[in-house]
Amino acid sequence: MAMAPGVFNHMPRAAAHLAPFDRPGPPRPRPGAAPILRPCDSPPQRDFAAAAFSCSLGGGHIPSDGARLPAMTDPSDDTSLAEHGAEPRDLPQPPPLRISPQTSLFLDFDGTLVDIADRPDAVVVARQLPGLIEALSQRLDGRLALVSGRSLDALETLLGPLGVAMAGSHGGEFRPAAGGEVYPLADPLPGSIVEDLTGFALANGGLLVEPKPFSVAVHYRHHPHARDNLLARAEDLAAMHGLKMKHGKQVIELVMPGSDKGSAVARFMDLPQFSGTAPLFVGDDVTDEDAFRAVIRFGGNGILVGAMRPTAATWRLAGVAAVHDWLAAALEEKTKA
Ligand SMILES: [Mg+2]
Repeated sequence: MAMAPGVFNHMPRAAAHLAPFDRPGPPRPRPGAAPILRPCDSPPQRDFAAAAFSCSLGGGHIPSDGARLPAMTDPSDDTSLAEHGAEPRDLPQPPPLRISPQTSLFLDFDGTLVDIADRPDAVVVARQLPGLIEALSQRLDGRLALVSGRSLDALETLLGPLGVAMAGSHGGEFRPAAGGEVYPLADPLPGSIVEDLTGFALANGGLLVEPKPFSVAVHYRHHPHARDNLLARAEDLAAMHGLKMKHGKQVIELVMPGSDKGSAVARFMDLPQFSGTAPLFVGDDVTDEDAFRAVIRFGGNGILVGAMRPTAATWRLAGVAAVHDWLAAALEEKTKA
């Protein structure tokens, strides 16, 4: 189907290919594994198995609930932190990633594994990245999943067919096993919403519209003047259709209910290979905060990537290169052992 100018077609996966799937219930803490809650003022731990249970809520930088996180923060805007009070205390670097039966790992994609580009299809995937992800997943016996706002098709277009578990479209698409069946965790987005935003985009300088199976994103990176009007239009559409609105790095996204990264993490943690582990989630954007809060509920920790901001994460890595180094070091340690 021909797309209107400015529309970035992410080739939505045909609903007919998606098998029915029970919707996830509310996240459940691991039985008998409530984390010990202590402030995170102590120096970085030597390994995650210890750190995950010794450093959790109470560190001051961790909001007690979602309401304290700014719902409409764009971390790429210099004004974001100023709008929400004093600059938060910085977080320590994470301890080395340890390959152990207690470790499970969730990785965001954009801004975490690849640097954000002008257009979603212009990101540069480091040559070693797919192999690095697959090697880590194998060492973790499948306890690794990519959890991205992109569709699964878009992820595999960029990474190639990857033998790891994945959740795409902010959790709307759920693939529990490498190369396995894909299940929808949300209803498809009505096409009328994409049409509405495409019309808005064309009338406001040609913003980039990115339809996905369970959401639609509108990028205003090259049209910052359109930000406020876009926010207003998206808020109206969200209210009219019962959608969630996410405000990422110079992008507004409307998503179907049930499509968030925290739900995806909870769903993975129900699977046998993830159950009982202390999950780590590595992500850069405000859309990752749902996942940071989810891993805390399962006795794990979040790792923020990029500049410091209000977050539920426990640790911070400076950027994509630091993430690659941190992941690769885990394989080297295992090789040495
Ligand atoms: Mg990201």
